[in-house]
Amino acid sequence: MTPKTSKPETLAAQAMGYMEPEFDSVIPPIHMATTYKRAADLSYPKGAVYGRDQNPGYGQVEDLLTHLEGGAASLVFASGMAAATAPFLALTPGAHVLAPKVMYWALRSWLTGWAARWGIRTDFYTSGDLDDMKRLARPGETKLIWMETPSNPMWDVTDIAGASDIAKGVGAYLICDSTVSTPAITRPIEHGADAVMHSATKYLNGHSDVLAGTLTFAEEGDLYRECRLVRKEVGNILGAVEAWLLLRGMRTLYVRVKQASANALAIAEALQGHNKLEAVLYPGLERHPNHDVARRQMTGGFGGMLSIRVKGGMEAAVAVSNRLKLFVPATSLGGVESLVEHRASIEGPDTPVPDDLLRLSVGIEDTQDLIADLRQALDSL
Ligand SMILES: *Cc1c(COP(=O)(O)O)cnc(C)c1O
Repeated sequence: MTPKTSKPETLAAQAMGYMEPEFDSVIPPIHMATTYKRAADLSYPKGAVYGRDQNPGYGQVEDLLTHLEGGAASLVFASGMAAATAPFLALTPGAHVLAPKVMYWALRSWLTGWAARWGIRTDFYTSGDLDDMKRLARPGETKLIWMETPSNPMWDVTDIAGASDIAKGVGAYLICDSTVSTPAITRPIEHGADAVMHSATKYLNGHSDVLAGTLTFAEEGDLYRECRLVRKEVGNILGAVEAWLLLRGMRTLYVRVKQASANALAIAEALQGHNKLEAVLYPGLERHPNHDVARRQMTGGFGGMLSIRVKGGMEAAVAVSNRLKLFVPATSLGGVESLVEHRASIEGPDTPVPDDLLRLSVGIEDTQDLIADLRQALDSL
């Protein structure tokens, strides 16, 4: 569909202006069909054959996301993990790949476990450290460089343009997990990424009620075709209802991200230097080690995710979490409601995450309510 404007806020709010053709209903229907009628000449005139992996509801989400990310094509998947693993599954055994040491833990454990057993060799670079990435990249051998920025749950920021130069230099694809930034903040394809991945379970949907993942590609080339084939043949497809809910959620992406970012920045500024805290980790703070890169690359705010390190170790951190009244102790992120999580205990014994760390997914509630809640929990320690 040709967009009527270049402004992403308008495209998202109107979901590109899709209408259902029979009644011009403003909201599209949910397409439940798993099979489509074949013509007398054995062709499929409307293009769709079977529900794995064709659904008219996908086109609307994928088209909107392609425009928001400034890419050439997108694919929706059953989950963020289904989207993230697709490009690795498209490689051949023996392929060498790079991924950050601190990253979304389920993907890291998939790379060290499942992918390793299937012959994918992963080297892990220090998150945010391009020299280390460059040192580990092997010309002609490294097929894919994975990056996540800001990366979970320490919020290191990695320079996408710099990483893209390294990937191009060795002939590898650069794929960026941009779940935390969202297109409202960073558009990795503009900085040279070959593809952008989202756990759409998080900000894109934004209401903690849909599991979904996406990939958006800079070109409709081999990488796109291979990932599309993985989706179709493995069948890790998004449900029709989920596709519809995701489009519904994406309409409010820009207002949600704006408010969550403003809240997170206000919280980070209010808490930095607090006498019960070891550190406040947030890319929007001037003292953040990658603040310069963040300023360049995160143009719509610094996101809704931050972490605090509590003095006194795990016991003190868990006590703070238990004293919070508005932040709900739960995993996941990117919803309208604020969550708090003790990450080390959920990631397990080989986690690189310090055990005094609490991850905050800041929602869209009243700013002062959230600051007051954190203050009372810390002050009562
Ligand atoms: C949640 C998440 C994933 C995995 O997505 P699912 O939808 O849970 O499968 C990947 N990367 C990041 C940064 C995430 O937060």
